[in-house]
Amino acid sequence: PLVLGLETSCDETGVGIVRGEELLVDAIASSVDEHARFGGVVPEVASRAHLEAMVPTLERATREAGVRLDDLDAIAVTSGPGLAGALMVGVAAAKALAVALGKPLYGVNHLASHVAVDIVEHGPLPEPTLAMLVSGGHSSLLLVPDVTHDVRSLGSTIDDAAGEAFDKVARVLGLPFPGGPHIDRAAREGDRVAIDFPRGLTAGRDMDRHRFDFSFSGLKTAVSRWVQAREAAGEPVPVADVAASFQEAVTDVLTRKAVLACREHGVENLQIGGGVAANSRLRAMAQERCDAAGIKLRVPRPGLCTDNGAMVAALGAQMVLKGRAPSDLSLPADSSMPVTLVQS
Ligand code: ATP
Ligand code: MG
Ligand code: FE
Repeated sequence: PLVLGLETSCDETGVGIVRGEELLVDAIASSVDEHARFGGVVPEVASRAHLEAMVPTLERATREAGVRLDDLDAIAVTSGPGLAGALMVGVAAAKALAVALGKPLYGVNHLASHVAVDIVEHGPLPEPTLAMLVSGGHSSLLLVPDVTHDVRSLGSTIDDAAGEAFDKVARVLGLPFPGGPHIDRAAREGDRVAIDFPRGLTAGRDMDRHRFDFSFSGLKTAVSRWVQAREAAGEPVPVADVAASFQEAVTDVLTRKAVLACREHGVENLQIGGGVAANSRLRAMAQERCDAAGIKLRVPRPGLCTDNGAMVAALGAQMVLKGRAPSDLSLPADSSMPVTLVQS
């Protein structure tokens, strides 16, 4: 099936088109530069930017793919979770297209889409797959028997998301927003064992009680204190070493728990998705540890890890292929849609 996907949950207006498991086009307009000076995404600014970017991005996607709207078999859209006003622009646009073209509409979960996008990169997802979703707002370990309707949560962050930790630590280090890519870059010149930062929920009773959960707020505080102590002593802050040591702590915890979850649930396939999956150290360490544990690892190319429309189209196409019923035309934008609800 030829499926169009619209994504507007945060600051990226994404329009993707897939044919079955083949990606035809992934058009993106980002308002990230408008938010950078505020140090975070401003919801009203994001909604307005989606409104302005939607039609031009849609036109660019269809033109580049050489697809006519009439040829589409279905329209898919992110119905949640995300910023309410931002989601509404995408949902309204998708409804308008579905009604005007007389095509089925699928309202899908943004987080399941971060997992499903890997299908256009590496082919069908093994069932079950263990998915680790690490993004700006979420960090979860998911058991995924079927990405179109059965996603189970094994654990998630009890405080900050992994991407949020990257963004906050970047701010402490004076790096621009969003901080993840800047930490990644700075860390390349640094020593990852320079500073021994804490690995949250990995030992003792914390680990027993939160086996597959994460906690990154203690790590963020530890980095902040370390930097402040340096500054108070009038000593220069070794930004590259702090970035590398922080990144090592996050990556160590994530990959350790992901491999453990695969082992304990008898799953041989690990998929990593979400913006933090673009991180070069996470990708390298995950590959090493999966190789050692006999686990097959799938991570999409960095451009498909961060938000985009292709991920929504990819999940929409799976819904069609698996014969799932379309969503109702009255489908709402659900800003707090749970990770276990794939479709609304
Ligand atoms: P969610 O998917 O939870 O709704 P989101 O859509 O805002 O959140 P994504 O676009 O999936 O998040 O990911 C953005 C996050 O990924 C940001 O926190 C950003 O700093 C982080 N990120 C992007 N690239 C990298 C990188 N190379 N290393 C680490 N973090 C990164
Ligand atoms: Mg973004
Ligand atoms: Fe996302």
